[in-house]
Amino acid sequence: MKPTWYYESIDKIPYQKLKQKGIHYLLFDLDNTILSPHSKTIEKTQLSLLEQLKKEFTIIIVSNSTKKRVFKIAEILDIPYYPFSFKPRKKVFQKIKKEYQCTNKEMIMIGDQIYTDILGATRVHIHSILVDPISKKENFITKNIRFLEKRNNIERDVL
Ligand SMILES: [Mg+2]
Repeated sequence: MKPTWYYESIDKIPYQKLKQKGIHYLLFDLDNTILSPHSKTIEKTQLSLLEQLKKEFTIIIVSNSTKKRVFKIAEILDIPYYPFSFKPRKKVFQKIKKEYQCTNKEMIMIGDQIYTDILGATRVHIHSILVDPISKKENFITKNIRFLEKRNNIERDVL
């Protein structure tokens, strides 16, 4: 269960290289990837990054969060969204693939969680990028400490 690549945050990803690899569909996780789970709105930096990316890629939000929460952000960006996606289940990825008529090689899942975002992508054989959670602090609740330790041991490949 290893991401294809790792970057510190979404603004560090070399999107042009993804494009060169034939990737056109960027599937973004929402919480802790695009914005803090405590935040109800998107920061200017992330907003302008995604607006920029929209010109060259199809941006899709794939989140396990509620529809209300995901809709608010997707509406601002005017992009498609899949709430309650139950990652790491395969279903949402298969649905997107069918709806957009795209191949595995054209898609990438970008998210902060190994056991949802990365595992889900791996199960359907699409590329994935792991980013550090925006709000690292709240991951330090007891049950996730072990997870974070494990995470530090994974190989951190970059493009
Ligand atoms: Mg997340």
